[in-house]
Amino acid sequence: MQFTKLRLVGFKSFVESTELSIAPGMTGVVGPNGCGKSNLVEALRWVMGETSPKNMRGGEMDDVIFAGSATRPARNQAEVQVTLDNAGRDGPPDYAEHPELAITRKITREHGSDYRINGGPVRAKDVQLLFADMATGARSTAIVSQGRVGALIGAKPQERRLLLEEAAGITGLHSRRHEAELRLRGAETNLERLDDVTSQLE
Ligand code: ATP
Repeated sequence: MQFTKLRLVGFKSFVESTELSIAPGMTGVVGPNGCGKSNLVEALRWVMGETSPKNMRGGEMDDVIFAGSATRPARNQAEVQVTLDNAGRDGPPDYAEHPELAITRKITREHGSDYRINGGPVRAKDVQLLFADMATGARSTAIVSQGRVGALIGAKPQERRLLLEEAAGITGLHSRRHEAELRLRGAETNLERLDDVTSQLE
């Protein structure tokens, strides 16, 4: 799926609503030091469900919210939206009728993040799985940060295996298996309780 738009409001240095079109092919971002080029890449990482403030170069997640400047007060919320072209209907089956998918993450100071897909509230996990199924995401090799190539060369076999799994598009299956196991355990507990109740009635 092609990323077509990125919109930021109150995210790091992007205090005003800023929308960028992402055309097919290669896109370059150029600008002087400190103008916010890395912040744009971090916005993409963040909207895809990044959970580590350290990976956002911050101490806590609220640090992604515009912190104020000499002339402007700090904001209380930050929002990033990425739009994907779903014309090929290769997105999640639940959105097969949607020609575009707009994934939004909003953070409110001291209240954490909430996520939406095409306006409907979803869990962080749903967004993370959506991108994992597309073999991309906040922690994927689709985003190569500084020093990552060296780290991959020196990686342990288990870490390399994660890369192969991502390339094979099965990263999301681990999460789904974990969720299914939790549900199964819940069902087993319920069955045990049911057995207790029926034996008391007999
Ligand atoms: P370089 O070319 O030097 O790597 P860059 O263009 O990648 O720079 P960024 O690192 O994206 O620049 O942006 C850094 C700027 O973002 C700094 O001016 C910093 O003060 C600002 N910034 C980061 N977080 C916030 C925040 N929460 N609120 C306001 N400004 C912020």
